[in-house]
Amino acid sequence: MTKKELWVVVERDGSEIEDVSLEILGKSAVIAKSSGYNVTGIVLGTPEDGVVRDVIRYGADRVILLKHERLNQYSNDLYVKVLFDLISSELPAALLVGATYYGRDLAGRLAARLRTGLTANAINIKMDEKGLLVFGVPAYGGKIMAEIVCENARPQMSTVRPGTFSKVFDQGKKGEIVEVVPEISKVQDRVKVIDRKINKSKDLTKSEKTIVGGNGVGGDFSLVWKLAELTHSDVGVTRPLADKGIVPRELQVGTTGYSLKSKVALILGVSGSEHFTSGIRDCVTVISIDIDKESEIFNHSDYCVVGDAAEIIPAVIKKLEGKI
Ligand SMILES: Cc1cc2nc3c(=O)[nH]c(=O)nc-3n(C[C@H](O)[C@H](O)[C@H](O)COP(=O)(O)OP(=O)(O)OC[C@H]3O[C@@H](n4cnc5c(N)ncnc54)[C@H](O)[C@@H]3O)c2cc1C
Repeated sequence: MTKKELWVVVERDGSEIEDVSLEILGKSAVIAKSSGYNVTGIVLGTPEDGVVRDVIRYGADRVILLKHERLNQYSNDLYVKVLFDLISSELPAALLVGATYYGRDLAGRLAARLRTGLTANAINIKMDEKGLLVFGVPAYGGKIMAEIVCENARPQMSTVRPGTFSKVFDQGKKGEIVEVVPEISKVQDRVKVIDRKINKSKDLTKSEKTIVGGNGVGGDFSLVWKLAELTHSDVGVTRPLADKGIVPRELQVGTTGYSLKSKVALILGVSGSEHFTSGIRDCVTVISIDIDKESEIFNHSDYCVVGDAAEIIPAVIKKLEGKI
C-alpha cells in the first residue's frame, strides 16, 4: 500500500538548489494542500543546513536526507541505487524530478528499475478525483495537451519542465528532517568524473528581451550577437542552428528547448513550425522578420516584417550605432 506522499528529488550544485526543484516543491505543496498528501523533498549528499531548511521553506513538509559524501556529485549508479532502496521501503505515491540533464538521466533508469511508468517533461500536474496524478504534456508540436496517468504501477513518476511552475517561499515554515545513511560502500560507480565544467549559459526562461535566429539568418550569426548586445537582449536559436553547432544547444527555443516568457521577442528568419512556436507562445510581444510573406511565423506574431534579414539586421545595427 503506497503512502499519500509526493516526493521531489532535489537537485543541487553545492548549496545552490536548482530552480526547477523549488518550482516542483511549490506545485506539489499546492496539490498536497487540497488532497491530504504530504510533500517530501529528497536531498542527497552532505549539504549545508541551509539547503535542507530551504527545501522545507519552499514547500516540503519533510526532508529525507540521504547522507553520504559520495552523493555530493550526481552519479547515475549511486543515485538510482539509493533512491530505489528508499522508494522500495517507503512506497511513496509519486516521485517528481526536474527535467534537467541529470534529472532526465536519473528518472529514466530509476523508473525502469522500479518497473513503473514515467511521464517526460510535464508542464502541468493535477490530481483527479480518484487521487491519481494527471501529467500534462504538449503533443503534436504543442497542438494538443496529452494527459497522462499511471493507473497501476507505483510510484507515479514524471520529469517536470523547468520554468513551468512558480516557487512558493514561506520563511517561517517548519518541517521534519529525517537522516538516512545509505549502504553504498560496495556500489561501483561506472562513470569516473575526470573534470567538471559548469555551463554558465543564460536561463532563457527569465529573459525579458530575446532575439531568436533561425535558418534564414544563414551561417554568419555574428550580426545577431551584435544586435543583441546593442539592444541588451539575450539570444536564442531554432533547432537547425543548434544541430549545425552554430550556437550552443543550450540556447535552443521550442518543444525540446526553452519556453520563452519574454516581454519582447524578435524572431529572425524562422519558418514557424509547431515545434518552434510552442516556445514563444507565452511571450508578450512577438516581432518577426521573414523574407517569405506567407511564412507561418507571421501567424504567431504581433508585428510582421517582410524582408531580407541579411539587409535589415545590418541596417538596424547601423541605426543603433548612430551611423545612419
Ligand atoms: C521531435 C521534434 C522536436 C523539435 N524541436 C524543436 C525545437 O525545440 N526548436 C526548434 O526550433 N525546432 C524544433 N524542431 C524542428 C522544427 O520542426 C523545424 O524544423 C525548425 O524549427 C525549423 O527551423 P527554422 O525555422 O530556423 O528553419 P527553416 O524551416 O528552414 O525556416 C527558415 C525561415 O527563414 C526564412 N528566410 C530564409 N532566408 C531569409 C532571409 N534572407 N531573411 C529573412 N528570412 C529568411 C524562410 O522563409 C523560412 O521561413 C523539432 C522537430 C522535431 C521532429
